[in-house]
Amino acid sequence: MSLSVIDNVKKIRKEIPETVSLICVSKTKPNELIMEAYEAGEREFGENKAQDLRDKYEELPKDIKWHFIGHLQRNKIKYIVGKIHLLHSLDGVKLLQELEKRYEKEGLELNALIQINVGEEESKTGIHKNEVNDFIQEVEKCSHIKVKGIMAIIPKGDEEQCRNYFREMKEMFDDLKKVNYKNISMEILSMGMSGDYKIAIEEGSNMIRVGTGVFGNREYK
Ligand SMILES: *Cc1c(COP(=O)(O)O)cnc(C)c1O
Repeated sequence: MSLSVIDNVKKIRKEIPETVSLICVSKTKPNELIMEAYEAGEREFGENKAQDLRDKYEELPKDIKWHFIGHLQRNKIKYIVGKIHLLHSLDGVKLLQELEKRYEKEGLELNALIQINVGEEESKTGIHKNEVNDFIQEVEKCSHIKVKGIMAIIPKGDEEQCRNYFREMKEMFDDLKKVNYKNISMEILSMGMSGDYKIAIEEGSNMIRVGTGVFGNREYK
């Protein structure tokens, strides 16, 4: 038996502190289901494909805050400029520079999180831990990209392994917070998905990204 989107949202809201932001990950899901979460009071949604985000942005209420959570190809920036509340996946210098160029041209600012490849996985995008300092130097050269925190998709593992990755992220977050960097203010620690958001919150996450837990399983055609 599956609960309705509204029931799912209510259940999750009851489980998480008010200080934690819930991003409803609506990738692959139709507007009708997104509107169910909207009617339940949710306003922050996450997409991982630039054209999908553009379409949903145009079709759905304008008070929705859209989060881009997937790898963003440079040639797709044009679809999302001015439409996203927060980019979770700043994952390379070339992307950073292209975003800076596009946002400067439009006279806009972009809020973004640095995606950290905390598990050092070949198959995943994100800045490796030993490259974070160099990456920050590049961020400091910008003026239209504002970094608000860090994000991670942790490797699959048991509870203890998950906890350790979350802890490592929290430590990095706290360390970066101590330093005054240009364009950077460490406010958001985006980690935790349907299977592990409770652990992530226990370890210090203040923004969780939940797809399946809100909308049910995804079908990829
Ligand atoms: C799909 C996705 C999620 C949500 O995953 P669920 O397991 O369905 O909650 C969270 N973050 C990112 C980056 C995703 O791509």
